[in-house]
Amino acid sequence: MESDTQQTSSDQSNCAGGCGGPSGCAGTTARPTRPATWPRGAPPNSHVMAKPTGAVCNLDCKYCFFLSKEALYPGSPFRMADDVLELYVRQVIEAQRGPHVTIAWQGGEPTLMGLDFFERAVELVEKYGRPKMSVEHTIQTNGVRLDEKWCTFFRDHGFLVGLSIDGPRRMHDAYRVDKGGRGTFDKVLRAANLLGEYQVDFNILCTVHAENADHPQKVYRFFRDELGADFIQFIPIVERVTEESRQGANQGWAAGSDARPLYTQRGRLVTERSVEPEQWGRFLISVFDEWVRNDVGQVFLPQFEAALASWMRLPQSMCIFAETCGNAVALEHNGDLYSCDHYVEPDYLLGNIGETHLLEMLATEKQRGFGRAKKETLPQYCLDCEVRFACHGECPRNRFVDTPDGEPGLNYLCQGYKAFFRHIDKPMQILGGLLRRGRDPAEVMDILTKEEQTSRGTRRRQSKRRRRRRRKY
Ligand code: SF4
Ligand code: SF4
Repeated sequence: MESDTQQTSSDQSNCAGGCGGPSGCAGTTARPTRPATWPRGAPPNSHVMAKPTGAVCNLDCKYCFFLSKEALYPGSPFRMADDVLELYVRQVIEAQRGPHVTIAWQGGEPTLMGLDFFERAVELVEKYGRPKMSVEHTIQTNGVRLDEKWCTFFRDHGFLVGLSIDGPRRMHDAYRVDKGGRGTFDKVLRAANLLGEYQVDFNILCTVHAENADHPQKVYRFFRDELGADFIQFIPIVERVTEESRQGANQGWAAGSDARPLYTQRGRLVTERSVEPEQWGRFLISVFDEWVRNDVGQVFLPQFEAALASWMRLPQSMCIFAETCGNAVALEHNGDLYSCDHYVEPDYLLGNIGETHLLEMLATEKQRGFGRAKKETLPQYCLDCEVRFACHGECPRNRFVDTPDGEPGLNYLCQGYKAFFRHIDKPMQILGGLLRRGRDPAEVMDILTKEEQTSRGTRRRQSKRRRRRRRKY
């Protein structure tokens, strides 16, 4: 598998028209040009998650259903060719009305493209960037290939690196394995240390699954105390399957797995690796309680930031908690554009950036409808929910169970989210109040500690009174 990704440039030329993907390949870089006027319905700013190696990765993480997407491009070399790279950089810059653009790389494993590819990307950003435009380069990696050269490059060009790690050794190695089935903890830890040493800005991305979901404190403290991480994102593993696909899926999504199905958003069951709804809620609550008492202003967790934005009625930065979505699309190695990173499947193909400009595809009724459906398909149970303002039914990809009264379309993780959002109501109100008054949100830690001391004192006094009363009678 890994050798498939070490293709020469002559292999890349096969990609132009011959990759066998759903819509062929991107052509020259001069076309398509940016539409003369901003297409009606196109968002002012958008986000593209580019996958230069498609689904190809040097690891075989058992829960990574994206590995199965190789099946969408039979015979492809899975290497983004230079003309597609140039189209991507040019169009994503042209698709921003504001002065900021993010050039985002994800996988598969993007570092398999080699450093040259990213040097070229940086060069193209300089070529097409508008004066005074701020550019953020981001890359999500499993870390295994990172070395001094990569870290120097990331530091010099201000890349924000997302490092995938699932907690201490046992929890990480349970599913994050290499092609030989061996755990990858040591290599990832080395990468984390190297990134720190080279002062590269990096975030932790931790998936929450059957093996680590019952250990929120161990996982969180490991990142905070042992890796010194100050930005941690937790993502629930929910691998959706049907009765027929479950057995094959439980074996993992790697090419060697028997009966590997193509992962699509279908089915009402989940694999045995998936996190349970209540477990997810308990995990979030436990991490939140630790964070809100000790780490506010020091450690950033997107879920908590997103919740605070909802409590303060500010615009939502996480699509899963927004009312609608549809402004974050996924770009395959050959220029095919899909509605979302989680919907890289034939029904959600919007076109190819070699044939249609990104802006035009973002403006299509197909894509706008995709984004609106997040709001329009909510079951009544969600419409009546007291925490809908913060949850908004989370991501549609997880809405595959029935509500208590039998309506379809409820989020599988509902119970967990409901418990979490109810639990954080009071601290969020305090945090919101502090921010509105221009105070330091970190004051919440002292406020909660004092309140807890007072209520502990009150409880002690009450129990003493009860004991005295019992003795009397
Ligand atoms: S489908 Fe889910 S992940 Fe994709 S854009 Fe919508 S909310 Fe975000
Ligand atoms: S907590 Fe449950 S009921 Fe409430 S909005 Fe979220 S998914 Fe819907």
